[in-house]
Amino acid sequence: MFIDRVELEPDELPKKWYNILPDLPEPLPKPKDPGDGSKIKFMEEVSIPECWRQEFTEDRFVDIPEELRELYIHAGRPRPLYRAIRLERALGLEKVKIFYKREDLSPTGSHKVNTALAQAYYAEKAGIDTLVTETGAGQWGTALSYAARLNGLNAVVFWVRSVYNWKRERRTFMKLYGAKVYASPSKITEAGKKGLERGEKEGSLGLAISEGLEYASKMENAAYALGSVLNHVLLHQTIIGLEAKKQFEKIDMYPDVIIACLGGGSNFGGISLPFMMDVLRGDKEIRFIAAQSMAAPNLIEGIYDYDYGDVAEYTPLMKMYTLGHKKRMPPIKADGLRYHAAAPIISLLRHHGYIEAKAYPIDEKEIFRAAKLFVETEGWLPAPESSYAIRAAIDTAIEYERKGEEKIILMNISGHGFLDLYAYRKVLFTK
Ligand SMILES: *Cc1c(COP(=O)(O)O)cnc(C)c1O
Repeated sequence: MFIDRVELEPDELPKKWYNILPDLPEPLPKPKDPGDGSKIKFMEEVSIPECWRQEFTEDRFVDIPEELRELYIHAGRPRPLYRAIRLERALGLEKVKIFYKREDLSPTGSHKVNTALAQAYYAEKAGIDTLVTETGAGQWGTALSYAARLNGLNAVVFWVRSVYNWKRERRTFMKLYGAKVYASPSKITEAGKKGLERGEKEGSLGLAISEGLEYASKMENAAYALGSVLNHVLLHQTIIGLEAKKQFEKIDMYPDVIIACLGGGSNFGGISLPFMMDVLRGDKEIRFIAAQSMAAPNLIEGIYDYDYGDVAEYTPLMKMYTLGHKKRMPPIKADGLRYHAAAPIISLLRHHGYIEAKAYPIDEKEIFRAAKLFVETEGWLPAPESSYAIRAAIDTAIEYERKGEEKIILMNISGHGFLDLYAYRKVLFTK
């Protein structure tokens, strides 16, 4: 019998996250304050204390608290690693193997649960009772609503209006967890009102962040939670790659290429960084490929420089590949990939040549066709965002096959598409 699935037992769940900061080829540039230091102080005040500490820690491994490991196990971790044997057959691959990590098997449908649970856990321990956040595609808002509720906290979500309007089911999902959900720009914050005055009716992730930060800072016992970009978010997400490494060990293999979609960089970092450790030590060679949209090709067309994380400039400046914090990006169905900048850690590694990036056209036809092939062969429905990784993995596999090179490709399925069927219909079945 051929088994195309590699499992870990619950007690094999990693006990520590991997922090890449001490292993980077140069120290990560510190966040900067354009003024008197007040923005950094502001961020510290609205953050969850333990997350802020983790943001700067130089410890190579960070303990995952036992209670949090129990929550991870409850949420279905460790997640399986699959060999895409049927997809390989459909592509006529003989030399190239494709594996995929199943972050789609998450209670709210995306990898974001990994950091949401950690943040809510630390917030509860610190006596915080409300977590405030922004969401673009809606996956982060759902993940945080879920994690907050399971830890006995309230969640308040500012949701980019253009998406809020059409993703009704996801809104219902957040409300089931008891979250308060506002369309952004809203009238309940100054940043939101200003956005409305500027005529930004559709909203943007940057503006929603500004609203959430302002809201959290005015409320007692509230903290702001971010779902991507920051070091501690990538740290929590390394659970993905750490599990995958153990799974490859079990089958005595090791990936030559790792592919994930990239908006802010958290699922890409999550699957890549534990393997990047081996590359930085000179033990292994791996190609890391970030799959992006031409709507927000931050790693490709961005410049590596200090920029704000949000439109209203509440956040400190961070050194990252950025398209500019005021950049207007065309709407796409894979809305989670629409962010103006890539995580500082990912940006630094890109700057040093460790990461390749590829951007796909905004009509997303090629992306959804790849997703359809994946559905038809593997049977699992990926999120539109994850389908960028699938597209890039298929393209890469075909190139190697043509050259007759034996390669093992690992891709991350960052989420499922059950709440994105409207997007599938629009792109694939509407004339
Ligand atoms: C949010 C999201 C992304 C993009 O965010 P990253 O931080 O770049 O990972 C990708 N896929 C899914 C399913 C998401 O929810």
